[in-house]
Amino acid sequence: MSALFPFHGGLKTVRHKTESNQTRIWTAMLPPRLTVPLRQHIGAIAKPLVQPGDRVLKGQMIGQPDGYISAAIHAPTSGIVSAVDPQPVAHPSGLADLCVTIESDGEDRWINRQPVNYPHLHPSELRNVIRNAGVVGLGGAAFPSAVKLNPSGRSERLDTLILNGAECEPWITCDDRLMRERAADIVAGLQIMAYLLGPYEVMIGIEDDKPEAIAAMSAACVRTGYMVCPIPTRYPSGSVKQLVRLLTGKEIPVDGLPVDVGVQCFNVATAYTVHRAVNFGEPVISRIITVTGQVHGPGNFEVLIGTPFAALIAQCGGYREGVERLILGGPMMGFALHSDDAPVTKAANCLLAVGPAELAPELPVLPCIRCGACMDVCPADLLPQQLYWHARAKEFDQARDCHLFSCIECGCCSVVCPSHIPLVQYYRYAKNEIWALEKEKQRAEQARQRHQARMERLEREKQEREAKLRQKAPRVEVVASSGKQEG
Ligand code: SF4
Ligand code: SF4
Repeated sequence: MSALFPFHGGLKTVRHKTESNQTRIWTAMLPPRLTVPLRQHIGAIAKPLVQPGDRVLKGQMIGQPDGYISAAIHAPTSGIVSAVDPQPVAHPSGLADLCVTIESDGEDRWINRQPVNYPHLHPSELRNVIRNAGVVGLGGAAFPSAVKLNPSGRSERLDTLILNGAECEPWITCDDRLMRERAADIVAGLQIMAYLLGPYEVMIGIEDDKPEAIAAMSAACVRTGYMVCPIPTRYPSGSVKQLVRLLTGKEIPVDGLPVDVGVQCFNVATAYTVHRAVNFGEPVISRIITVTGQVHGPGNFEVLIGTPFAALIAQCGGYREGVERLILGGPMMGFALHSDDAPVTKAANCLLAVGPAELAPELPVLPCIRCGACMDVCPADLLPQQLYWHARAKEFDQARDCHLFSCIECGCCSVVCPSHIPLVQYYRYAKNEIWALEKEKQRAEQARQRHQARMERLEREKQEREAKLRQKAPRVEVVASSGKQEG
């Protein structure tokens, strides 16, 4: 493997991995009803292709991508569509979103799956296969993968394709188990990605607290030329900018993307779904999710998209006593769910039930003492206390100038702050306010343009009317003058 280039900051966290990574991936049960959100990805919501009463087969497309940055949605099982309407989804706001509800017929009957022999396809056809299979980044971002697999527009060959198996957040082990158990399938997906992107080198970053995963992936990569790179176990090494820095030494510019420095990065689970889509003709209708914390039987489950979280918790033997919160994602970057009625989505990698033991005690927030501890741990090289001051004072322009949008919301600064200031909450607040102000500005600009277009149309119509009147005017004179003659 190549040399590593450590990033600034980060934290050693308590791992809590063994609670869920000691057993094989279980297949979750088929629930009687699945609620499938049509928005599970970054980009435009998918357009529904079904209506209540329709019969669907497992793997049938039920939501069509709406535009380039969008993703297809498929029926996770066979059955009858009972509703296409807003339902509660997993979102910090707790708001509802458009979903397709399917009553399972218990037969779990597939569509006709059609694998493709990808070296015989034109790259654009292969990307379409991946796009139509609804493949998105399964590390949490859920960005449509076909877009990232399109190298067109780049004049130079990609330097490095990185597969992210770091899984740096405490408690989460779904990628670890996937790499241990299905390494060859992941590498098969990676080969398809490399075929499309044609990089000079391929690297797989895995934190060094996963020796079994490193061994399995190394064995699967024999004779591929791909490098399996153990990286130090240090949160947030799995964050894209930090992983790119660690493996290549390259710094992604502020507001930039990995591709700006000749790198493209995917999660290991995404590579797995690319393999299933291309070599088996199976769209993304399930994912592996860690269920852990205060449940009776923690573990990793291969679960159909649309399964209610409550059904998954029930399969783990239910909650232990004293659960106070259910977190989707890890404790550092996840968010609290409003209820366990919401369904599993493609981005859902961990369900963490927390009780008093896992929750940090609520301590009074004290004034900032400018100790600089937050700055020491910030992996994005920001000045967190400065950002905090600006966010608190609603000085959003200044916050932006201090690179607020480079903050990856990793939470390291909040963890170490001796004044217990919930710093990340301030940054999220400031970002939301800036987005809201920008939307307002855009709306005002659109309204201005509409008003201007209306005024121009009215003026045009007025001029047309006047022109017509001018054309008619001589006839009136002729009639008038001829009348005079007659008189
Ligand atoms: S760690 Fe907390 S108290 Fe120290 S400088 Fe940062 S915000 Fe202020
Ligand atoms: S949450 Fe943002 S400011 Fe705080 S340490 Fe992480 S990147 Fe830095």
